[in-house]
Amino acid sequence: MHEVSLMEQTLHIAIENARQHGSNKIDRLKMRLGEMSGVVPEALQFAFDALKEGTIAAEAILEIETVPVICYCHRCQTSFHPAHLFYECPDCGELSRDTQSGREIELTSLELSEQ
Ligand SMILES: [Zn+2]
Repeated sequence: MHEVSLMEQTLHIAIENARQHGSNKIDRLKMRLGEMSGVVPEALQFAFDALKEGTIAAEAILEIETVPVICYCHRCQTSFHPAHLFYECPDCGELSRDTQSGREIELTSLELSEQ
């Protein structure tokens, strides 16, 4: 589990960003987490609640958007959402090794209080 260190970094980036914009209060953070990112949203939320104490994000809300795994089948030239752990194309049955999304871990937006 690396949610705590991930959240430490994210919070650090968010706080730096807020300071650069002349704000000393963060209201909301939005993150995107891929299904295959290996990050557990609940654990990330828990880490956030613990780490935000005493920072300018102490009252902030963390919103986590889960990004589904999307694979690409080169034979059919289509993208699909795999139904299970094996990335099997629903049309031709070929196993895809080409994942287009599902691994991302991103801080996508920040809402800051104007001061
Ligand atoms: Zn296919």
